[in-house]
Amino acid sequence: MLMDTFGRRAVDLRVSLTDRCNLRCSYCMPEEGLQWLAKSSLLTDDEVVRLVRVAVGLLGVTEVRFTGGEPLLRPGLVGIVTACAALEPRPELSVTTNAVGLARTAEALRAAGLDRVNVSLDTLDREAFHTLTRRDRLPDVIAGLAAADAAGLRPVKINTVLMRGVNDHEAADLLDWCLARGYELRFIEQMPLDAQHGWRRDSMVTAEEILDRLAARFELVPEPAAGRGAAPAERWTVAGHTAPDGQPARVGVIASVTRPFCRACDRTRLTADGQVRNCLFATGETDLRSALRAGADDEQLAGLWRAAMWGKKAGGGIDAPDFAQPERPMSAIGG
Ligand code: SAM
Ligand code: SF4
Repeated sequence: MLMDTFGRRAVDLRVSLTDRCNLRCSYCMPEEGLQWLAKSSLLTDDEVVRLVRVAVGLLGVTEVRFTGGEPLLRPGLVGIVTACAALEPRPELSVTTNAVGLARTAEALRAAGLDRVNVSLDTLDREAFHTLTRRDRLPDVIAGLAAADAAGLRPVKINTVLMRGVNDHEAADLLDWCLARGYELRFIEQMPLDAQHGWRRDSMVTAEEILDRLAARFELVPEPAAGRGAAPAERWTVAGHTAPDGQPARVGVIASVTRPFCRACDRTRLTADGQVRNCLFATGETDLRSALRAGADDEQLAGLWRAAMWGKKAGGGIDAPDFAQPERPMSAIGG
């Protein structure tokens, strides 16, 4: 198992498949992109599957989410999902994606064994989307969402980051739009993980503000915290609305900054170049790629992974006076 000294157990693995992306969301990447990882340092498809097998078979991981960068840019994605779906015990498999290109791949991903998708969508306004992501791709994202839903990758979840003066006025419109389509919307507070180091706590849109904006149009009923488990989103049911499964429709807020959920964190992360990170905000990493390429067996890799998680800190430390943003930006860690 992947335990730490605070008694937390990591069962949810985030695997970054690439640090590259076809969008340039301003809260994530600069317009000119970044210095991408060298191809030789990236794990091959077989290496990714081997490490997932170690995590699932020897370390108790039950859920695997592929992310990036943009995971749909990874040519071997369908093959990786197929191989991971054949593992015993079979993990739950999902992808976090901007959905550009999902219209083409949703069916194949479903057939390969993918269970769900989380799609990032911050605005319904084509011009605002173009400004925010520096690409005019909103119609592709909307088509990708519809394709994921049609392929049965449900519930389709949408992640939204609100930024002051850019899209914060769209909170209630986004919820309306998602409710009408049966998508589950979650707002994520903007975190200090952008490559440009432009995040400012005093200007970020807080969970409290988001809820105020939603409450102006919807009646929200808090779900009991007991049902939340390690899930980072605090959830509310939206009175008068029903989800496609017949349950009350829900909206979530992930208050990573103002109400961090570190105490219940159950995550472990693997970067595209084979480094284990025990936290988004970790300043250190454990190099599984070198060990793997030097001939380590599965037990040795599992031992390195266990040691990496044992050293996990109590929290991300955003509020600590000496907080320093990690060197890797979100796109290279895997969000
Ligand atoms: N490209 C894919 C996507 O956008 O869904 C996967 C990678 S992206 C880094 C994963 C998630 O991180 C997205 O939902 C994105 O909105 C979120 N994200 C990126 N930078 C962020 C930041 N500074 N604060 C909060 N969330 C961020
Ligand atoms: Fe790309 Fe996702 Fe970052 Fe946007 S948030 S630039 S889609 S990696």
